[in-house]
Amino acid sequence: MDKTELLDNISRLKKEKNAVIMAHYYQVNDIQDIADFVGDSLALAQQAAQTDAEIIVLCGVHFMGETAKILNPHKKVLVPDLEAGCSLADSCPADEFETFVKAHPEHTVISYVNTTAAVKALTDVVVTSTNAKKIVDQFPKDAKLIFGPDRNLGDYINGVTGRSMLLWDGACHVHEQFSIEKLIKLKEQHPDGLILAHPECKRPVLLMADFVGSTQALLNYATESDSMKFLVATESGILHQMRKKNPQKEFIPVPPDDSTCACNECNFMRLNTLEKLYDCLLNEYPEILIEENIRKKAVKPILKMLEMS
Ligand code: SF4
Repeated sequence: MDKTELLDNISRLKKEKNAVIMAHYYQVNDIQDIADFVGDSLALAQQAAQTDAEIIVLCGVHFMGETAKILNPHKKVLVPDLEAGCSLADSCPADEFETFVKAHPEHTVISYVNTTAAVKALTDVVVTSTNAKKIVDQFPKDAKLIFGPDRNLGDYINGVTGRSMLLWDGACHVHEQFSIEKLIKLKEQHPDGLILAHPECKRPVLLMADFVGSTQALLNYATESDSMKFLVATESGILHQMRKKNPQKEFIPVPPDDSTCACNECNFMRLNTLEKLYDCLLNEYPEILIEENIRKKAVKPILKMLEMS
């Protein structure tokens, strides 16, 4: 099947089955272009909470499909590839996190959305990089807080909120690999370029950035800024929307530490393809399924997040 046929068939199946296609900003360009909705983790969760569709096809990674299913237990939630995981979510196994939480019984548990349903079930409130500061700011200054699993985002939020939350020692393999040396060289080549960085990057990269924010915030900043050139330190999929919205501006991906790999692309996100999207709509498989006792616990911190955002 050629690409035009593939796109036509995806559109036809979507209508026939009353399905909605939601895609994360880190998806390949073709999937972003055919999706009904493209957004970051917060926006995808908000859309999933509101949709009337009978089937949600979540083009992202596994925990995003789980979030949609947790919010829509009676709908079918499909993902193009069940193997699309997340190194950050994997850095926080639920049994080890439970031991950590139990060792600090007076703490409120704040978890980044990049976690499994089982970790969310141990959490008091979920956050995304878009709303983490806003939500942490709503707790009293002396509140005892645990933040997991991303140590870089937690460190950044501690800094901007004046907190000393206990941090889980996890990280995303894509954002951790941006090196300060490469960034300095790139800035020397493009002194007029503003540096945009996601808070999952390490502290030296964030200290050098002109603007730090979630994927959505980086997109908004680039669109609203008068600057014509940007050096972008996050997963390179977002450059597609940045260029679409700002065709007159220049966006340069900050290279990974190891120039022999394309490690500023999330290999998990890139597992999803148009072919797999078509197959999953056609066969209504693979489907996200979650044990109901876990789902019931995991929905509370997600609803709390939506209420506090
Ligand atoms: S970019 Fe990092 S945090 Fe995002 S899905 Fe990929 S591994 Fe997970």
